[in-house]
Amino acid sequence: MTARMYYDNDADPAALRGQTVAVIGYGSQGHAHALNLHESGVNVVVGLAPASKSRPLAADAGLRVADVADAVRDADVVMILVPDTAQKAVYDAEIEPNLRPGQLLMFAHGFNIHFGRIDPPADIDVGMVAPKGPGHLLRSVYLAGGGVPALFAVHRDASGTARARVLAYARALGNTRAGVLETTFAEETETDLFGEQALLCGGVSSLVKAAFETLVEAGYQPELAYFETMHELKLIVDLMYRGGLNFMRFSVSDTAEYGDYVSGPRVTEGAKVAMKDILGDIQSGSFAKRWVAEYDSGGAEFARMREQDKHHQIEEVGARLRAAMPFVNPVVVEAGQAQAAASGAGAAESRPKEAAR
Ligand code: NAD
Ligand code: MG
Repeated sequence: MTARMYYDNDADPAALRGQTVAVIGYGSQGHAHALNLHESGVNVVVGLAPASKSRPLAADAGLRVADVADAVRDADVVMILVPDTAQKAVYDAEIEPNLRPGQLLMFAHGFNIHFGRIDPPADIDVGMVAPKGPGHLLRSVYLAGGGVPALFAVHRDASGTARARVLAYARALGNTRAGVLETTFAEETETDLFGEQALLCGGVSSLVKAAFETLVEAGYQPELAYFETMHELKLIVDLMYRGGLNFMRFSVSDTAEYGDYVSGPRVTEGAKVAMKDILGDIQSGSFAKRWVAEYDSGGAEFARMREQDKHHQIEEVGARLRAAMPFVNPVVVEAGQAQAAASGAGAAESRPKEAAR
């Protein structure tokens, strides 16, 4: 069975005509949603805490800014784009008390609905548009006239208009230019967590570190190990992105391709068992429970692990080497900020990232 894709023609902007969308939060996703919607002709208000450092940013971008409670009262659609761990507190204090029947509450990730941390009243529509890309890409691709693909879901359609409004929202974000795919909150949440843990963030960074350490421990030069294990990874991933594994194998030497077939599976022996375990922890809710408890108790373990990996040898070697390669547009992450590393580099993404709390 192939999934149905929805494109611009399947999403009628009229479903949001005359409506106001409150975008709560102005971080990675928040700024992109607010600006893309605004430029697509949707009436947008950005809901932020009175002391939020994002207020001047949003206002300078020409957006209307209000306290969260006022933004919710003003809106027909409320999109929650604060970090997943912070959503419940913001929802309980400022969103739920101001909801009224017929409003559509939206998410960009199903975590809080799926794990039962947020349970909206029965007369509220609940939907999701989850772009398959970080916020700065959602924004830059839209500006260039394209769109990043997204998943959408309707958890509850009390008004009978939820589905049309969710699709119109995805269109205003630019997603339907590339195609959107329907899912459920359960499927989106479980696959998203699995992907980032087993492969995209966790699996890949563990493989890179293990390969780097193996070379350095065997006496090879760390700088060479960096180029081999982290720098070249992008070149390989770019080939896969354009033409799948077949194009990567078409492009590399026969020696590399033969080694791929005979040695690759030795690296991941046992990996599928671990992946099934990880998926089990996600499906049972035990990962969510552990992460929420960690966040609620102050995030000490999270901070310790972050600090430890920050000083891994590959990070220190890599930062030095990248500074001499302006073409990679290098950035350094310091005190929760990402900043351009080398003069002469193009504009790097520079935005604050909230700490665990
Ligand atoms: P973020 O970390 O960029 O933070 C968003 C904003 O929330 C901050 O800029 C700040 O204005 C506000 N905020 C931070 N801490 C807060 C707190 N304790 N109380 C109230 N407000 C607070 O968040 P994000 O990465 O944009 O994620 C927002 C949502 O989008 C999440 O549900 C996430 O899963 C989802 N999502 C993110 C991405 C991504 O690439 N970042 C991709 C798809 C979906
Ligand atoms: Mg994801």
